[in-house]
Order: sequence, then C-alpha cells, then structure tokens
Amino acid sequence: MAITTNRLRDDTCERDWIWEREVEAASWEETRRLSVGAWERQFRRLRESSSFYARKFREAGAGSSFVSLADLSNLPFTTKEELRQALDEEPPFGSNLCVSPIQVKRVYQTSGTTGAPSVLALTRGDMESWTLMGTRTYYATGIHEHSTVLTTFGAGPFVAGHTHFVLLRTGARSVPVAPGDTERVIFGLRAGLADTLLSTASFAQYLANRLEKTDADPSAIPLTHVVTGGEPGGGIPGIRDHIQRVLGVTVTEVMGIGDVAPSLFGECPHQQGMHFCGAGQVWVELIDPDSREPMEIETGAVGELVYTALTREAMPVVRFLGGDIVRIDGTSCECERTSFRMRVLGRRDDMFIVRGVNVYPTAILSVVAEFRPRVTGRARVIREGSQTSIEPPIPVEVEVTERHGSDASLVAQIEDAIHSRLTFRSKVTLVPESDFGESGYKTRLTVRK
Ligand SMILES: [Zn+2]
Repeated sequence: MAITTNRLRDDTCERDWIWEREVEAASWEETRRLSVGAWERQFRRLRESSSFYARKFREAGAGSSFVSLADLSNLPFTTKEELRQALDEEPPFGSNLCVSPIQVKRVYQTSGTTGAPSVLALTRGDMESWTLMGTRTYYATGIHEHSTVLTTFGAGPFVAGHTHFVLLRTGARSVPVAPGDTERVIFGLRAGLADTLLSTASFAQYLANRLEKTDADPSAIPLTHVVTGGEPGGGIPGIRDHIQRVLGVTVTEVMGIGDVAPSLFGECPHQQGMHFCGAGQVWVELIDPDSREPMEIETGAVGELVYTALTREAMPVVRFLGGDIVRIDGTSCECERTSFRMRVLGRRDDMFIVRGVNVYPTAILSVVAEFRPRVTGRARVIREGSQTSIEPPIPVEVEVTERHGSDASLVAQIEDAIHSRLTFRSKVTLVPESDFGESGYKTRLTVRK
C-alpha cells in the first residue's frame, strides 16, 4: 500500500504553546546572541570549578584570558577517553565535575566503548535542560499533546530513559514497555493503546518484518507514526520506506549523544533530516573528520559534529568529539524551523577506508535494503582487528529469511549492486535470521573478528 498522505503534516496544533514557548521562536541570530552570553558564564565556571578543564585551558594558553565562542577552535577537543581518565582520577564523578556532589540529583551509567561504564551526573538544572531539548526534539518529530506514545526505551541504564520525562512535558499519553518485550508491543499497538511507536530502527524493522508474515494487512493496525532513535536506520530510504509501507506509518528519527543530551536532533514530518534542537543550550561545530579543521555548517557539507555545553552544570563538555559523521541537508525547512537539518552517515569508529575512500556501513545497508523481501534489511561488515583500511573484497554478512539461506543468485546480485553503487568489490555471506544473532533491539554495523 502506497502512502499518499502524511497524516502528521495535517496536525492542527502545529503552533501551540510548546512551539511558542519552548521550541525556537528565536531566529538564528537571536540564538547566537543568547549562546554568546551563556558561554561567557560557562567558561568562567569551568575555569573556577573544574580541575579537568582548568588544566586543559591552561595547557592551551587560555589560563587567564577569555576565549570567545567565535574563537572556540583555539581550545582543544575533549575525547571520551579523557572523560574516562577524569573519572578514574577523582571517583565517583570525576575531575570534570563542576558542582558539589550534593547538587548531583540523577546519575546514569552509560555504556563505555571499552569495559566499565562511564558515569553521567546531572543537577536539577541539567535535568530541566535535557527535558527542554528533548521536548523540542520530540515535538519536532510530530509528537504533540494529542499523541499516544508506546515507548520501548527503558528508564535506565541508557540515557534514552530521559524520554519518559520528555513525553510527560509534551502532554502526550505514554505507554511504557520494556525493551525487547515484543508481545506487549504488538498487543498494545493492535489494541490501539498508542498511535506512535518509539523504538530503535532495528526493532521497528523487525516488527514490520514480523507483522508482514503474520498479518494479512499490518497497516490496519491503528499506528500512524514511528519515531526511531539510538542508531541510524530511520533515515536510510530502503529501511524507512519498508517500515512506512508495511505498517502504514510515517517514520521520523531522533538522535542524541549521552555526554551532551539524550535527545538533541529531531526530524520533522517533512522528512528532510533531523533538526538541531539544542539552540542556546549546546553549541555545535562541524569539523573535517580527517584534518579536524573547522568547517562551515552549510548544505551538503559532510563532517563530524563537535559539541560544547553552554548551560550544563554538573558535567559540561567543551568541544566534545561526538564521533558521528553527518551530512548537512539544509539550513531552512518548510516547517519554518531555522536550525540546520542533518542525516547521520555513520560512526567514525565504524568507518573504513577502501583504496583511499571513506566508507560507512550505512551505505552498504542502504544498498542491501533494496533486496527485500529476500533480505530482512540487516547487514554488517566483518573486519579484522582494529584495521581501518580494508582491501576489497569487503566481507559483508547479510541477514536473509530462512528460505534464501543458500541463494547463490542473490549473493551475486547484492555483490553487483554494491560494486556498481559504491565502486568496490564485496564478498557477501548470507546468514539466516536464526543465526544472525543479536536481538532486534540494536544492530552493530561492524563486527571485529
Ligand atoms: Zn522541518
């Protein structure tokens, strides 16, 4: 069934109180002015209260002089690894803590890239700032007061749990279901408890695949909107279109960064990429992923996003390398938001180089997704150890339905499609659903063996 109308765009409360009060009535110039003032206060606080940043600023020659927002690139980056070391230096919160421990009112343990979890501390003010940015984000996706939202994001340990506070603020009905409890999700959606589903792209895709097999007309389920987050996928046409077609819904996506804000980018129903929703709270820069030189945030630019917390109290970050490589899709929109729009191409860690050209596994996913219904839409690149440069053929595992487990012509067709679209040779292995592993919750795009 083709989607002819996007029901979310017919929304009658497009400009209600949240838009006026919390979204961004302010122009980009106004936002910049607010940000300049917030940064002055933040810089002073960091130098006085954070031994971690006082040291970094001193080492950068900014021990006693002020560095303005315009000159931010004179300050060093902050990496995840440095935050780890800061935590080890002064447990339990780290030498980057800017407030007294008694002011810390919520703590998340986030998944570290290696080993032990890292700790995120929030003050009351930080929680409010996260809720503000989250409300803008989810409001942008089309979740409004009349929405009824079934969410599969757990309260913890992932910071996505903050979404529950955000939904409360939007005024929407919230139907929380534990991650992975597929039966309750299906029951809730069939029963009409919710018109909106919040989940990872992998789970939404899994749900669409499953209902396509069991239901004569899955689009008859009274679900109209799916908001995906936690991984790229909702923005990949082959994956998005399939979920939209099978479930009869509009898919929009959100993105956040644990160390900055769990919801920071939200795609509006015009589906032209995710709007930046942290204006006045977070300052964003775009840098070249290789040279790390600053780049202009303009349509078509591809780079890595770098974040500076303007209002964060407990654990502000300065020039934090988020690790996401994005493409800027525009700086205006039919929805009248003035913030830039972007799409995630992939994690810098997932990137590999084939004969001097950067490749992200999301590019492979988007080719593979065209082979439905023989494939499920999931795929991953297999890499040896920590190598970045890979010689073709690139090993790719593609998940297929049981019937196509040994379909030699399918292998040849996918390899041809990857070659013609991405200009490198691949070696495709078909893996049946039962062997692909990992739950439908989140899919790793590269696997190191
Ligand atoms: Zn828009």
